[in-house]
Amino acid sequence: MAKRIAVVGGGTAGLSAAYSLQKRKSAGTPIEFVVYEAGQHLGGVIRTERIDDCVIEAGPDSFLTEKPWAADLCRELGIGDQLISSNDAERKTYMLVNARLVPIPDGLMFMVPTKLLPTFLSPMFSLGTKARIVREWLSPPKPKNAEMSVAGFVERHYGREMVDRVADPLLGGVYGGSADQLSVDAVLPRFVQMETKYGSLGRAMVAARKNSSSAAPRPLFTSLKSGMQQMTNALMSRLPKEVFRSGVRVDAVKPESGKWLVIHDGRTEEFDAVVIATPAHAAAVLVSAQAELATELTAIPYTSSMTVVLGYDEAVRAALPPGFGFLVPRTEGRKILAATFVHNKFPHRAPENRAIIRCFIGGSVAEQMFEQSENEIANAVEGELKSILGLGAAPLFTRVYKWRKAMAQYTVGHSARVDRIKSLVAQTPGLALAGNAYSGIGVPDCVRTGQEAVDKLMVDLAPR
Ligand SMILES: Cc1cc2nc3c(=O)[nH]c(=O)nc-3n(C[C@H](O)[C@H](O)[C@H](O)COP(=O)(O)OP(=O)(O)OC[C@H]3O[C@@H](n4cnc5c(N)ncnc54)[C@H](O)[C@@H]3O)c2cc1C
Repeated sequence: MAKRIAVVGGGTAGLSAAYSLQKRKSAGTPIEFVVYEAGQHLGGVIRTERIDDCVIEAGPDSFLTEKPWAADLCRELGIGDQLISSNDAERKTYMLVNARLVPIPDGLMFMVPTKLLPTFLSPMFSLGTKARIVREWLSPPKPKNAEMSVAGFVERHYGREMVDRVADPLLGGVYGGSADQLSVDAVLPRFVQMETKYGSLGRAMVAARKNSSSAAPRPLFTSLKSGMQQMTNALMSRLPKEVFRSGVRVDAVKPESGKWLVIHDGRTEEFDAVVIATPAHAAAVLVSAQAELATELTAIPYTSSMTVVLGYDEAVRAALPPGFGFLVPRTEGRKILAATFVHNKFPHRAPENRAIIRCFIGGSVAEQMFEQSENEIANAVEGELKSILGLGAAPLFTRVYKWRKAMAQYTVGHSARVDRIKSLVAQTPGLALAGNAYSGIGVPDCVRTGQEAVDKLMVDLAPR
């Protein structure tokens, strides 16, 4: 008899799991599966709209090229020719410092200065920080410390100004969270290794660059010509329509007599195994019968965020500074954390006579503004762009996308918590978890965790 598997959650991770199941089924493994998705839209936070001939991303706009799983999946799905690279030749980014946009100096790799002259000439740092940067270059290797926050780690190397002006805004744009909370071990494990091997992060980065200098530099970000939804649409096109149960919110997932019960809308359906690919807070509710697992899942915090997209005409496009956009340190007291000049960052996003600015609001500001109307939010963002960029023109269109508790925060203690979760799940045959809460926040990691969840279930279900 075919084994029945339920996938709960139809975002990137859930669809990736479903596609893995479909491949195994096509190869002859006797399985049947369904995908439950609470909303009507499949793809989770990936959602692309076409407005005024522009490609508008409501959620993720790209993924890190160095993480292979999403691009590999696209190639497998036959849309490899649709992958596009960020226009890295245009990769100038600005930081708002004392209300002025300052270009991030050449050689600043993430939050590590690797070229001293441009760093010294930049108005981004005070003399005190510049002195710390020189001293950091001479730091000897350090034994591994107890886990600490990104802020604590960066402050120890370069001082608080580097946290406020660089680390926090960079992480704010990725996690919508704060460097004071996020764990350096979970978020930047490479930096921790560099510190133990070299001491100085600057010297470590330069050494890493030398070691990889034979290969042509890869573009930082990858996306798809028609937007990120091209990937989730391609995934869905490989799955039979009848597997999708959209608009069905699962209430509970329970083991009983060697089976898994999936309960929704007062009905109970029986399965042999379940992939839970929802955010961890939703997974905690589903497995509330397993108290220890539920408690660990509940402890993974999430932040809410909003993306606000504004379309402008060619005059604005010509007037904008060159580059990918700008970041806004929290210390500047603004509402937005980042603004991307989408038409510059990727090809195929806007016709020549359009400019697209996509702004990101995260953390406590997003929470405070969440209940405001889309008009109010768009007006607030327009006001910010006016004061930062001097942009007086009215946008041709605006869109506001609200994401309630969609970004997991890898806070101090995250790696140990995930180890405990993995061990609990390993002891529970027929259960697997996937998604952005555990071992990587980005789209490629969600693709990978969907695949790994199915690998685990296949082992669990294999005849002994
Ligand atoms: C605004 C934003 C921008 C981002 N930008 C990027 C980016 O540019 N690059 C990048 O790599 N990553 C980005 N990320 C992170 C990355 O996109 C996400 O981590 C990833 O897409 C999440 O996929 P997922 O499947 O884990 O979760 P989701 O996409 O959140 O999908 C989970 C699904 O589960 C469903 N669900 C929840 N509860 C239930 C239930 N009880 N029953 C049934 N269904 C349920 C939800 O409706 C949802 O569709 C961004 C995230 C956000 C929020």
